[in-house]
Amino acid sequence: MLKPIPLHNQSSWQDCLSDLITDPLELLELVGIQPEQLDLSMDVLREFPLRVPRSFVNRMQQGNPQDPLLLQVLPQKKELTNYPGFISDPLAEQQFNPKPGILHKYAGRVLLMPTSSCAIHCRYCFRRHFPYSENRPNKKQWLESLQYILADPSITEVILSGGDPLAISDKHLEWLLEHLAAIPHLQRVRIHTRFPVVIPQRINQNFCDLLAHYQLRFVVVLHANHAQELNDEVKNACKILKESGVDLFNQSVLLKDINDNAQALVDLSERLFTCGVTPYYLHLLDKVKGSGHFNVGMPIAKNLMTELRALLPGYLVPTLVQEQVAATNKTPVL
Ligand SMILES: *Cc1c(COP(=O)(O)O)cnc(C)c1O
Ligand code: SF4
Repeated sequence: MLKPIPLHNQSSWQDCLSDLITDPLELLELVGIQPEQLDLSMDVLREFPLRVPRSFVNRMQQGNPQDPLLLQVLPQKKELTNYPGFISDPLAEQQFNPKPGILHKYAGRVLLMPTSSCAIHCRYCFRRHFPYSENRPNKKQWLESLQYILADPSITEVILSGGDPLAISDKHLEWLLEHLAAIPHLQRVRIHTRFPVVIPQRINQNFCDLLAHYQLRFVVVLHANHAQELNDEVKNACKILKESGVDLFNQSVLLKDINDNAQALVDLSERLFTCGVTPYYLHLLDKVKGSGHFNVGMPIAKNLMTELRALLPGYLVPTLVQEQVAATNKTPVL
């Protein structure tokens, strides 16, 4: 039996999700910044709207237009600048899309995308131009994807990715896990999610009971880019997951003016460890159109890694990786 989980003193995760901030002016007002202090753009919202949970906004510093959390979500004019080499589908993912909602590119692992929606919209996201509407599978298509996994015994791990897979209901998740658990060669289910960080209320008793119900091993890979994201509520969500036997890792994206200095990355690793989370990957930005201003050049990234290795125990140094279209694994940058 699981230990009772302390009640969150806030509303349910569904309430948080239906109460997202979508208006940039409201966001700025909440953090005490005048719109004139920034180069805000409303035009870029047509393609990729603003979405940010209130709990995440509460972790931003008041009155700081350079706040590392604010800069991750704020729609800025800079997104309209064209940078050479920054294109709509930098990973050419559609080639590896054998059926809607499934990506099979790496040995032994398939990526399932149960939903296109996320709790937060990160402006640097490489999926901002992905044709999600064609990738919202119906039940029949789900069964085809499950059939695809069943037919290939080399697949031992299913990665739920997205969008954010925890945006789907526990009921839908249960349906999916029920089918996955019935596939004999499947050993692990990995969940790539930003929910425990941006809406920690998502990690409740019901969700943990659901995971505990299966023989499968569960791995949760969080996505946090800055120590300031990891408040005590996030720490508590991680603790609950750990107590349910889930292994926890984190991936970050190296982002200019957000975490592109050794101290920010050291603090992030240390804070992750305090939360029971092991740093996994530090990604170089995928060159997606509209995100050029977040890019950190390769020489700077390599220098940062040298600094990190000097400052942190080896087990807290993430692997710097780059996604390459043709590669069938993440490419380490050494
Ligand atoms: C990143 C990724 C994975 C997982 O890679 P790991 O190195 O195991 O974390 C699997 N499939 C695809 C298509 C990916 O992009
Ligand atoms: S897929 Fe991940 S990085 Fe992209 S917007 Fe959603 S939560 Fe952010």
